[in-house]
Amino acid sequence: MNLRIPGPTPCPDEVLEAVGRPMMNHRGPEFRDIVLRVTERLKQVFQTKGDVLTLTSSGTGAMEAAITNVFSPGDKVLCVSIGYFGDRFADIAKVYGAQVQALAFPWGTAADPDRIRQALKADPAIKGVLVTHNETSTGVTNDLQAIAHVVKGEFDRLLVVDAISSLGSVPLPVDEWRCDVVATASQKGWMTPPGLAMVSMSQRAWEANTKATMPRYYFDLGSAKRYLDRGQTPATPAVSIFYGLDVALGLMLHEGMEGVYKRHARIAQRTRDGAKALGLSLLADERIASNTVSAVKVPDGVDGRKLIALVQEQSKVVIAGGQGAQEGKIFRIGHLGHVTEQNVDEALAAVGKALASLGYQHAKAGDGRTHA
Ligand code: PMP
Repeated sequence: MNLRIPGPTPCPDEVLEAVGRPMMNHRGPEFRDIVLRVTERLKQVFQTKGDVLTLTSSGTGAMEAAITNVFSPGDKVLCVSIGYFGDRFADIAKVYGAQVQALAFPWGTAADPDRIRQALKADPAIKGVLVTHNETSTGVTNDLQAIAHVVKGEFDRLLVVDAISSLGSVPLPVDEWRCDVVATASQKGWMTPPGLAMVSMSQRAWEANTKATMPRYYFDLGSAKRYLDRGQTPATPAVSIFYGLDVALGLMLHEGMEGVYKRHARIAQRTRDGAKALGLSLLADERIASNTVSAVKVPDGVDGRKLIALVQEQSKVVIAGGQGAQEGKIFRIGHLGHVTEQNVDEALAAVGKALASLGYQHAKAGDGRTHA
């Protein structure tokens, strides 16, 4: 099976072997070594001198932790959304009592830093900005550097980032861009099964933490930090996933992060070119298209759900559908983590075959027209 959804992603054999190792005492010296090594390596990939806490949770838990550990009920937060996961970030903030000011952009587009500037200028009471780095539902990567320049450089507000489907696959120098809280999860570019979420905290974020009164217990990062200092976690962690992440980080750093980023950029370009060669169009403008997931429009007259089912049935390739309002209108090909050119070539060939079976004939590659 060629699993080409944007997470969980396929894992290298070495990682899966590690995940199958026997259990150990999660409060003993052997596990402490693993926790400390994983944390050091995560810091290298996050490019931060701040803290990185590893939580036993999926990415949504890290998003929740990112909010509840730096804000108080009633705090005004600007929630920048360009899709499904941006909306989720805002929903979590609302649940915990933040005063959410939504700044939404049409799905398939990127956030405009100038609109963020205007929003912050108009309301000096806004304490922080929540933003998705890479919107998995639409295959768009926001210009986080430009956004950070506004949020930190011009207004010095807290910058809280969902980097779940970007960090470890595309460049995100956390300290250089001055991101205060950054969340990611093991099943994305980290080539590891689901089960761990990682979140970084800047000095400024810790200062906010001392005043933040949103309720938190399992995801209390102060508690996570106190335990981390002893090479432990507050509660029983996903021990097996720690084993896997330890090995996966070793592989990533062995390849070199520049190499990892280049591979993702190259394979993403190949995916976009391949989709266009089938006569298909991408949801996003290429200048903002993601290097970890591509969202492709289902051509007129083709049933999106049937297409996805047929791709799996005929070719054993699993692609993802659209989420929310894009359901049935797009399909998505994940190309993050443990991914090769051959993986996406196979996925594109499978899509071409299924489309042909559904009676779709595409115009010659390059003329941009599609018809069913
Ligand atoms: N944000 C983004 C950008 C994501 O891609 C995902 C996972 N698809 C999430 C949040 C939610 O993460 P999880 O499913 O691990 O809770």
